[in-house]
Amino acid sequence: MSANHAVVVGGGLAGVTAALELAGAGLRVTLLESRPRLGGLAFSFKRGDLTVDNGQHVYLRCCTAYRWFLDRVGGTALAPLQERLDVPVLDVAHPGGPRLGRLRRSALPVPLHLASSLARYPHLSLAERAGVGRAALALRRLDPTDPALDGLDFATWLGRYGQSPRAIEALWDLVGIATLNATADQSSLGLAAMVFKTGLLSENGAADIGWAAVPLGDLHDTLARKELDAAGVRTQLRARVTGIFRSQDGNWRVDTETGTLDAATVVLAVPQREAHGLLPAGALADPDKLLDIGTAPILNVHVVYDRKVLRRPFFAALGSPVQWVFDRTDASGLTDGGQYLALSQSAAQDDIDEPVSVLRTKYLPELERLLPATRGAKVRDFFVTRERTATFAPTPGVGRLRPGFRTDTPGLYLAGAWTATGWPATMESAVRSGVGAAHAALAALGRHRENPLQEAA
Ligand SMILES: Cc1cc2nc3c(=O)[nH]c(=O)nc-3n(C[C@H](O)[C@H](O)[C@H](O)COP(=O)(O)OP(=O)(O)OC[C@H]3O[C@@H](n4cnc5c(N)ncnc54)[C@H](O)[C@@H]3O)c2cc1C
Repeated sequence: MSANHAVVVGGGLAGVTAALELAGAGLRVTLLESRPRLGGLAFSFKRGDLTVDNGQHVYLRCCTAYRWFLDRVGGTALAPLQERLDVPVLDVAHPGGPRLGRLRRSALPVPLHLASSLARYPHLSLAERAGVGRAALALRRLDPTDPALDGLDFATWLGRYGQSPRAIEALWDLVGIATLNATADQSSLGLAAMVFKTGLLSENGAADIGWAAVPLGDLHDTLARKELDAAGVRTQLRARVTGIFRSQDGNWRVDTETGTLDAATVVLAVPQREAHGLLPAGALADPDKLLDIGTAPILNVHVVYDRKVLRRPFFAALGSPVQWVFDRTDASGLTDGGQYLALSQSAAQDDIDEPVSVLRTKYLPELERLLPATRGAKVRDFFVTRERTATFAPTPGVGRLRPGFRTDTPGLYLAGAWTATGWPATMESAVRSGVGAAHAALAALGRHRENPLQEAA
């Protein structure tokens, strides 16, 4: 009876994706999620009348797996991409007063698509701009999958290519901190090369930015749930898995706090520490490696003003502890003329445990420096969301710690943004892992299903 049954543990993007793919191939699928909602690390919650995301999420046009996921759940129109990459970058430390620069692409082919924007980028000297161009061309020649790159750090490589501290701050870290959740000195060269090569140097539109125009929960919980139901997946929320055991008949027994399930296939799509706790003996040659994968925090600072203070949908800041600022007014359901801004603060080790009062004293004056219109505005609400283990830490050497989708035990598979997808901890990585684990399971069961990412890969 359990031969046709697959259990997916964890209802983040990796688990939801795996469940959809397994069900699509005709398996009977049960998805077990410990929380009362799907979406894992990318979710929403209510705060009074507002619907708030736990953290601003963006994706790029080159995130083909996440875009496939959006399409699969019917969410593409709700998380649109910019027509063309356009990032306003505001430097408030400029001696002559705040100065705005833009990182934009043109319609020209790679790498010329960024050349004219870089040539005019005011936050770097002429020599620095030329130097960035040279380093970008050198980066293009790197192979991100080369294991030798995994052990090196990005900052040392940038230094070798003559990048000044200012070029690192105003360009490489501006993008790198937001995508890798670490500064260049804390990032594996392999992962950094992956991000910059794929995003900026692969295709003309690869780095165009997309983000949800609705709460994340609408996409990753409501729409995902609808598609799981339609695919026949039995989703159990508030169902924490406490143990996974191999039965004598070779099938799997999955224990939850309220019962037991039998299955021929199990996809474990939980964070690495939880996976380590649940993996049965012998499933990985060296399971303790999972515990060596570090984590990195992201803080979001949420400010609701009584009026509009920002005209753009988002911008990035230089010369300020503020990193990226997004207008979440419409997405949150705020309709009374106020404006709701979310500050996305990656690699937030210094701030993550600070009390709200300290963060308020730190960030409100910074917003006044960046956005003069806030000076006369009333702050109607100020709160923070803290994700202490938002991503795995992309430190040099992390690549050799990330396991593949297959374990050493038949029928048991791993998924999660932290598995060996080659991507940093992103929604893209999560979806890739879910598809990868499901298709590894289907291949072992002798079932054929077209891999939806094959064309995109
Ligand atoms: C604040 C923040 C900002 C981010 N910004 C971006 C961004 O801009 N772009 C981007 O691409 N990515 C971003 N990320 C990363 C992205 O959200 C994650 O990489 C991705 O969502 C991870 O998905 P996952 O399915 O691998 O894991 P998770 O989302 O961690 O899902 C694992 C699930 O397993 C469940 N679980 C755990 N233990 C058990 C158990 N014993 N039994 C049952 N269920 C269990 C958990 O409750 C969880 O729902 C951000 C993350 C955060 C936190």
